[in-house]
Amino acid sequence: MHTHIETLKKDMIHHISAAKSAESLKEVEVKYFGKNGLFNGIMRQLKDLSDDEKRTIGKLANETKQVLEARVSERYLELEDALMANLAESEWMDVTVPGAQPIQGHRHVLTQFMDEVEAVFARMGFSVADGPEVEEEHYNFDQLNIPANHPARDMQDTFWVANLPRHVLRTQTSSVQIRHMETHQPPVRIITMGKTFRKDSDATHSPMFHQLEGLMVDTDISMAHLKAVITEVLQQIFEDDSIKTRFRISYFPFVEPGMEADCTCPICHGSGKLNNGVPCRLCKQTGWLEILGAGMVHPQVLKNAGYDPEQVTGFAFGMGLDRMAMIKHRINHLRLLFENDLRFIEQF
Ligand SMILES: [Zn+2]
Repeated sequence: MHTHIETLKKDMIHHISAAKSAESLKEVEVKYFGKNGLFNGIMRQLKDLSDDEKRTIGKLANETKQVLEARVSERYLELEDALMANLAESEWMDVTVPGAQPIQGHRHVLTQFMDEVEAVFARMGFSVADGPEVEEEHYNFDQLNIPANHPARDMQDTFWVANLPRHVLRTQTSSVQIRHMETHQPPVRIITMGKTFRKDSDATHSPMFHQLEGLMVDTDISMAHLKAVITEVLQQIFEDDSIKTRFRISYFPFVEPGMEADCTCPICHGSGKLNNGVPCRLCKQTGWLEILGAGMVHPQVLKNAGYDPEQVTGFAFGMGLDRMAMIKHRINHLRLLFENDLRFIEQF
């Protein structure tokens, strides 16, 4: 019995020291001191001993237990200390290390381009006007002299708003011209830029695209003003003083006469060939690009806005901002502008 207690003591001390955490030490405690633990086993055997033995063995068992309990308490403290020491080792941080740089976004190439265009016009005295994207038929078509039976109003081309009668997603930014003229007296010198919508979707068309629209109305405004402004603007936008423009007669209901304008190709500078003699693909070797629609504001449109066409004249023009940004930045595919592919966006 005496040896048995000594062995038990030796074993337990070994287990206490071997316990590497408070949890495993608790298990050791239960194994030895628990209700069905090894120590209680010894106590139960005492009753079979003689009175003398009960005294000596019982005393030894109690003393041993006290020693072991003290050792357990001590081990708890050791483990706690070790935990804290370990914490200092594993959780330390160097507060002088530079912080992680968050990924920083920037404005989209198209937004940047629109800002550049705005700055060019601002230097020429134009201000920016704005209008709604969901537009009344009245402003999108009627006031722009687009007849009720004009094919542009067709369901095929225009997004009509289902729950809002006589409203469309504006097919052009020209509606802003009317809104501006209704609330302002001449002289007018504005541009407007923004989203326009048509039922068109292929490699070179997107159902949503961006338009730039310009309007100048004053006394004695002529074609010469139109040509001068357009030429100067294109030269500044494409950062090329050699750019020339030419005008071809065309038809738009809200201008008379109406024109389409071409500019010399900013890539090959009108030669149709690149520096190394390779044919220019952008202008298909013609040296010219169709770049905008324009014209002198139709007298009826001026009247619709409350102006007197005998007193004032004006010009208007519109161009696709997406295509211009593509030309300027040598972007090959329209879709790249709208796909939100970071590999593309981060290049600008
Ligand atoms: Zn070219």
